[in-house]
Amino acid sequence: MMVYRCDGCGKEMPRHALRYTVSVEVCAAYDELEVSLGDLVRDHRSEILALIERMKQADAKELEEQVYKRITLDLCPSCQRAFIKQPLRFHPEQGGEGGAVDVDQFLRSLGYGDKKH
Ligand SMILES: [Zn+2]
Repeated sequence: MMVYRCDGCGKEMPRHALRYTVSVEVCAAYDELEVSLGDLVRDHRSEILALIERMKQADAKELEEQVYKRITLDLCPSCQRAFIKQPLRFHPEQGGEGGAVDVDQFLRSLGYGDKKH
């Protein structure tokens, strides 16, 4: 018989038992996309080629996760109650340093976010 395992406490949950699923999407986001005439006529070739060279050195999965990551969890009812009371018990100091590619700079070169940074 198929069983689920609670991602919170590790307890086994029978297939038809009440369980909860949590889907979290972590997306790179900026306030707005502004494209000016200067952006349209500017030659992006050298920037893109340099970015591709840096990407060759980087881990593809890590790069993808810097832009988008979907996390799906199965929770038992007890963990669901704990989760909805305090969903953000993460530790920011575990984030570490960024990789070789500056994803922020790349997204901004495409027009996302504030270009003044
Ligand atoms: Zn649990």
